[in-house]
Amino acid sequence: MDRSQLSATQSSRFGTRITPLTSRTDLPPRWLETPIEDFIAAHNFDKPIEGGTEPRLLIVSCIEYRFSPSVPHSFAYVMRTAGGRLSHESGSEFALSYILAKGVRHIAMIGHNDCGMTKVPQFKPNLVNALVEQGWEETKARTFIEENAERFAMDDEIDSLEREYKRMRELFKHVEIAPLFVSLASSRLHIPNWFLRYMVEQKD
Ligand SMILES: [Zn+2]
Repeated sequence: MDRSQLSATQSSRFGTRITPLTSRTDLPPRWLETPIEDFIAAHNFDKPIEGGTEPRLLIVSCIEYRFSPSVPHSFAYVMRTAGGRLSHESGSEFALSYILAKGVRHIAMIGHNDCGMTKVPQFKPNLVNALVEQGWEETKARTFIEENAERFAMDDEIDSLEREYKRMRELFKHVEIAPLFVSLASSRLHIPNWFLRYMVEQKD
């Protein structure tokens, strides 16, 4: 795939649904002077974060191999799942309780374009084969994939991020959660437009 096809901003599906963050003034004021600003600055303004001694941020993202968070040692916890949704990892709230107990109060939830989890239905035979090649009995592999496919599959990356944000917002009321959308072509972070509306509606 040509790299320009991995641009979220140039995509007809995503381009009108996300807002670029091209300078510090594009950030919601509540993110300024926080680890979320540092993280955005590292990705969008080429301003590397200095490592510290205490964890400051939790980054939640997809397992996606074409995205790598730009963070130094001793800055962030990182939880990565297929699709980037903690709701799919049983017991993930336990890890959250640990991270909160360590003092982290900021979470960056990162969605991305061209997510493999939007292609699960057509990819299912490959998933079954991958397990069979590892010695799984075929019926067991098929059942396992069928049972999990629906849970992990998503129709749309931006809608999925919105649902997961709202779920997390309910569960963890006193942390700052920043939903961000990364364009795989550039690794630049964007704000989903639904979040801009949400902030106005909630006066949150
Ligand atoms: Zn993904």
